[in-house]
Parts: sequence; C-alpha cells; structure tokens
Amino acid sequence: MLYIDGEWRGARSGRSFEVTNPATGEPIGDVADGTREDAAAAISAAAEAFAAWSQLTAFERSDTLHRAYTLMMERREALARLMTEEQGKPLRAARNEVQYAADFFLWYAEEAKRVYGDVLPAPRPDQRFMVLHQPVGVVGAITPWNYPVSMITRKVAPALAAGCTIVLKPAEQTPLCAMEVFNVIHDAGIPAGVANLIPTADPAPIGEELVSNPHVAKITFTGSTEVGTMLAGRAAANMKRLSLELGGHAPFIVFSDADPVYAAKGASLVKFLNTGQACISPNRMYVHRSIAAEFLTALETRVGGMRAGNGLEDGISIGPLVDAPSLEKVDRQVKDAVAKGAQLRTGGSRLTSNGLDRGFFYSPTVLSGVTPEMEIYSNETFGPVAPVIEFEDEQEVLSLANDTHYGLAAYVYTEDLRLAMRMFEGLDYGIIGINDINPTAAAAPFGGMKHSGIGREGGREGIAEYLETKLGGFSI
Ligand code: ADP
Repeated sequence: MLYIDGEWRGARSGRSFEVTNPATGEPIGDVADGTREDAAAAISAAAEAFAAWSQLTAFERSDTLHRAYTLMMERREALARLMTEEQGKPLRAARNEVQYAADFFLWYAEEAKRVYGDVLPAPRPDQRFMVLHQPVGVVGAITPWNYPVSMITRKVAPALAAGCTIVLKPAEQTPLCAMEVFNVIHDAGIPAGVANLIPTADPAPIGEELVSNPHVAKITFTGSTEVGTMLAGRAAANMKRLSLELGGHAPFIVFSDADPVYAAKGASLVKFLNTGQACISPNRMYVHRSIAAEFLTALETRVGGMRAGNGLEDGISIGPLVDAPSLEKVDRQVKDAVAKGAQLRTGGSRLTSNGLDRGFFYSPTVLSGVTPEMEIYSNETFGPVAPVIEFEDEQEVLSLANDTHYGLAAYVYTEDLRLAMRMFEGLDYGIIGINDINPTAAAAPFGGMKHSGIGREGGREGIAEYLETKLGGFSI
C-alpha cells in the first residue's frame, strides 16, 4: 500500500506487484505499484503539511520521534522476521538492524532540540548579526534494499526532527519492511502529510517526479553510484539540495605487527555481514607478506565453517543474495579472477543442495593472489567474496588503497599508534575502522568521499543536511 496524507491507499493505476523471499523464491506479499501521479499527490500533501509541522516546537516533534522509537523497539521481533523473509539476512542480524534503525529515532528525538543558531560579531557598531537554521522543506528520499529498515529511519528521523516533511520511495525488493516502518510512524501520531511512502516496481518515473517537482527542496538517495550520479545531475538542474550515499570499495589493510588470527576473525565478520551486500563491505584485503599465510589459513577456516541458508533457521550466518543478477555478478567476478590466476581457497560456486537452489545462494569464498587485472580488484562485488592481496610496504599499500574513485569505508589492523594515525589521516575515505570492524552508530557521521557520495547521515551532521542557514542583519 501507499501511505499518502496520513492514509493507506492503493495505487491510482490499481496495479500491484509481488514481493518474493530471496531464500525460497516464494511470494510473500503483494504491494500497490505507485505511479508518478501518486508521487505528485504525496509531494502536494507533504508541501501542505510543511507549514504546520515546521512550526511545531522542537519539543513536540521530539515527542513524536520518541514514540516512534518506543514502538519500533516493541515491534522489533516482528520487524526482524519480516526483514529476514523479505531481504534474507539471518534473524540475529535483522534484530541488530532494527535496533540500529530505532536508534536514529532516539538520537534525532534529542538532536531536534539542539538546532542552535549563532549571534556573530558585526562590522558596524549599529549592526547585529544573527544566524538561524530552518528546515529546507519537502524532502524526496530513495532508499535501497540491503538495509531495508535502517536506511529509511536514517533519512526520515533527521528530516522530521529538522521540521521537514518527506516523500520516500523504497527499493522494489523490500517494500514490506518500508510499510512497517511507516506503520510505526503513523502509530506514533505523525500528522497527515508529514511522511509519505510510495512503493513501486518501476522507480524511474517516481525518481523523475522527485527531482523535478518544484515543491521538493532536497533529494536524499542511498544506492548505486550509477543511479545516484544520474539523479544528482537531474536534481542539480532543478537546484535541489542533495545528499548521496553511494557505492564503496573498502580496503582492509593488515600490517605486519597485527595479530593475523585476530585480523582474520574481523575480516570474516565484516566481509560476510549481510552476505557482503553492504556499501562498507571490505572489497580488497591487503595483507602484509610476512603474515599472509597465517592470515589466509585462519580466514579460510572461519569462512569454510560458515553455514548458508534460510536466515530464520538457527546457526545460519550467510543468507541469500538478493536476486539472480546479483548472483551472476558474483559468480562472474570469481570466474574472471580464477581465470586470471587467483587461487580459490574456499567456496567459489553457487549453492544448490538441500533446497538452496530455490534461492540465490553463493558459497562464502576466499581468493588469494588477486591482481589489478581482475574485475574484482576494482569493481564493487556486493557478495560473499574476500579477495586477498599481499603487500610489502606502507606507502605502497596506502597508494593502492586510495587508487579508486570510491571513498566510503576503510579498515586498518595494526598495534602501532603512529602508523594507525598516519593511516587515519592518509586514507581518502569517510569512515576508517582502526582494529574496528563496526565504526557505525546513530551518533556517528556516516558517508563517503569522492564518488561514494555527498553529505553525511547520522550524528549531528545528519540533521544539518535538512537545514538551511539564514543570516539576519539588524541595524539598531
Ligand atoms: P542496487 O543496484 O543496489 O539495487 P540501485 O541504485 O539500483 O542499487 O537502487 C537503489 C535505489 O534506487 C532503489 O530504491 C531503486 O529503486 C532506486 N532506483 C533505481 N533506478 C532508479 C531510477 N532510474 N530513478 C530513481 N530511482 C532509482
């Protein structure tokens, strides 16, 4: 269903589309297929609701977000189960994602009350300068399928906290999770028109409406660099404000002084999280030659022991890929690497036994001897493959790590404080984990440099993306 102006509705076209479970291939729901006209109606509702919502006190908006936090936590288990069915990640990971998603409601319920202004020194004795921050207006948001609940709250919570209203288009693979997030928002008592949801099977016309409708002041997008770049061009042509969270190609660097077994544990946990379908997933593991053999043995053992399957079952650590093209891409990258001389240490094929052929399962894979000629070396994989590359010295690995147009996340393992600091400062990435595989939280700024995006989500930076700065000059 679409959620427009405070009501759940069918699509104007009367059409709907099917949602399937990527672990079983079975249909799990039928969702209204929103059209461009539906998006325009939602934008009108959001534009109308803006005046009243933006003029509430921050305390009133904060109350609504607090209620949304409480409701989402109450519904955590049901939401997590739905996420596992619709997106495929193991239940435990889905529960963690719901917590992370709810954290954005809580954090921005508080940040809503900390949108401070400034009083500045002015150049004339009769003059006073004051700076205000005001909500930008109606926000058009587009979110991906890989984190189908938290990627929504990471946009909706700061937008609403700032006093903006919003129209959100979720990914076509995961509209059911989006609907449940909007049920939470509805039940939290959000006024009609403040938050609107347009699921669709055909994203392009909705995207075009969001980037061209004059009532939309800002576009916020999370997804591929390709689609993000296209939307950024269209949004710029219409002078919309813009935030983009795009692809990544994270290096994972293990220096010679690091414990190779500990580093391999971190590598296996972060690489295979969400079956490798995360923009901060390590895509190139650079390991110092002196400890590469130990690292590979430990990694191979851990990865070889991972069980793939339906995430609702106990003991599953690897869920399916989201769809057939994703499976084909992973398989193509692995075959290309092996054909060009990489060694397959474990995995390397589609999983089909015990009913897994009904879903999109690929065995957790480790490749060593990866070189720049291989597709996997420079393209985002978005799948369960760990490519390992040996290196000799610090300058070499720093320039290899930075030699990409992506700049989202990077990971470093070392015990040497000075080396850690040189890497923290030298890596051209927005998020750096130093012996840390999870440098993310609602309170922390998340975002990329270079082609990985523009702007930050989370933290105090996250709400600034939804605010305009206004200067007042007063002559007295
Ligand atoms: P992925 O390849 O990971 O699915 P996409 O960038 O294709 O990444 O998808 C991320 C989001 O962008 C989804 O909500 C999807 O529907 C949306 N999207 C894809 N193509 C377009 C488009 N042409 N216009 C607007 N949104 C789009």
